[in-house]
Amino acid sequence: MTPVQERPASRLLLIGPPGAGKGTQAARLAEYYGIPAISTGDIFRSNVKNETELGLKAKAYMDAGDNVPDSLTNDLVRDRLSEVDAAGGFLLDGYPRTADQVRELDAILLSHGHSLDAVVEIVADPEVVIERLRLRGQEQGRSDDSDSVVRHRLEVYREQTEPIIDIYGARGLLVEVNGIGEIDEVTERITSALSERGFPQPMSA
Ligand code: ADP
Repeated sequence: MTPVQERPASRLLLIGPPGAGKGTQAARLAEYYGIPAISTGDIFRSNVKNETELGLKAKAYMDAGDNVPDSLTNDLVRDRLSEVDAAGGFLLDGYPRTADQVRELDAILLSHGHSLDAVVEIVADPEVVIERLRLRGQEQGRSDDSDSVVRHRLEVYREQTEPIIDIYGARGLLVEVNGIGEIDEVTERITSALSERGFPQPMSA
């Protein structure tokens, strides 16, 4: 039997305001590092679409631009991170976004004997993200991309999510990347910043 090539695990978080391009970058980074991208927003949206029990509970919060309660979110992430494809690393997009979720993620990782390798903050000016989300709302019709809901999501981000960036900063895990520019350019900024921290090169390299 051919031995499976050993590869260091990468456990990454992507944090940034709504509209910073997290989803786009998450998909690219997941491919680059050969790890699954796990987006709590995508998981919630697919539950809403399929009208599951979780989706029915989450929908009103999402439509209002509020965080879904931690009691619903934490279990979902705990289950997802226990799946076999996440054992060798993962990229979490949109979680944690509250201090409680930070504690929960620490506990989940500890129970697997793991810890985070880096937290990438995609930095983007609020006026730029509002404009991007306005366009996305017109193109894709996402129910939480209307002007007033976008402004509320930014407030929720400032109040509940921005403070957790300092927690990761204090742990020496934070990598700040400018999110304004071409998609390729931003990906390149992230992968070079991570390679400076000793992150693996792509599996195909
Ligand atoms: P964005 O970052 O643009 O707000 P997401 O797809 O990450 O988009 O999230 C969309 C919505 O899904 C959020 O406004 C929130 O209602 C819900 N959501 C996603 N992740 C979480 C989370 N970790 N905790 C609570 N609610 C969440």
